[in-house]
Amino acid sequence: MKLILLGPPGAGKGTQAKMLTDRFTIPQISTGDILRAAVKESTPMGIKAKTFMDGGALVPDEVVVGIVKERLQKDDCQRGFILDGFPRTVAQADALKSTLGGLGKELDAVVSLEVDTEALVERLTGRRTCKDCGRGYHVKFDPPRAGGICDACGGKLFQRDDDNEATIRKRLDVYGQQTMPLIAYYRNDGVLAEVDGMQPMDVVQQRIVSVLQAK
Ligand code: ADP
Ligand code: ADP
Ligand code: ZN
Repeated sequence: MKLILLGPPGAGKGTQAKMLTDRFTIPQISTGDILRAAVKESTPMGIKAKTFMDGGALVPDEVVVGIVKERLQKDDCQRGFILDGFPRTVAQADALKSTLGGLGKELDAVVSLEVDTEALVERLTGRRTCKDCGRGYHVKFDPPRAGGICDACGGKLFQRDDDNEATIRKRLDVYGQQTMPLIAYYRNDGVLAEVDGMQPMDVVQQRIVSVLQAK
C-alpha cells in the first residue's frame, strides 16, 4: 500500500499515519520528523532547514526531494509506505512521480484530510509531542494520563517551536498557496479521496481504512 496523507498543518496526518503504521506495518515517512531530527543533530541539512521551519516557510524542494528519494529505496518500503507531509508543492509531486516510476511503483491513494481553519489553530496550539518516541498528544483532545509525560514511554512532552499562533497562521497561508493545488493535481490523476478530518481520530482512521479497502 502506497499512500499519501495530504492536508494542512494540524489536520491529523501524523496521528493517522502512526495509527496506519501500527495496523499495516508499513513505514511512516514524515519529512517534518526527518527534518526536525536533522535540526536536533545540527547536521548541515538541519542547520540550513531550521531558518525555513522556524519562519513557517517550506524547506527548498531539492532538500526534501533528496530525503524522500533516499528513504523510498530502503527495504522497509518494499511492502508500501505512508507519506506524511510530502509532497507539499507541485514540483515535489512531479519529482515523486518520476522517483516512483523509476522504482516501478505507483500510488494507491492520496487521502486529503479536510479540517476548518479555526480547528487547525486550536489543534496546533494545543499539540504536544513526546521527545523520546514522537507520539503526539493534545492538551484537550488527547491528553496524556500524567501531565507532560508520554503514556507510551514515559518521555517528556514538548511543544514544537513552530506551533505558536503567528507561525501557525503563516504555515496555513503557505499551505493554501503552495500545497492546496495538489488536491486538484491528484484528483486529476484519479487517486484522490477526501476524508472529513473534523471527526474524532478513530472515526477518521476507520474512513481512511475504508478508502484503502476499496482499492
Ligand atoms: P499534522 O501531522 O497534520 O500536522 P497532527 O496529527 O500532529 O497533525 O495533529 C495535530 C494535533 O491535533 C495533535 O495535537 C493531535 O493530537 C490533534 N488531533 C489529531 N487528529 C484529531 C482529531 N480527529 N480530533 C481532534 N484532535 C486531533
Ligand atoms: P505540519 O504538518 O504540522 O505543518 P510538518 O512536521 O509536516 O508539520 O512540517 C514542519 C515544517 O517542516 C514545515 O513547516 C516545513 O518548514 C518543513 N517541511 C516538512 N515537510 C516539508 C516538505 N515536504 N517540503 C518543504 N518543507 C517541509
Ligand atoms: Zn513517548
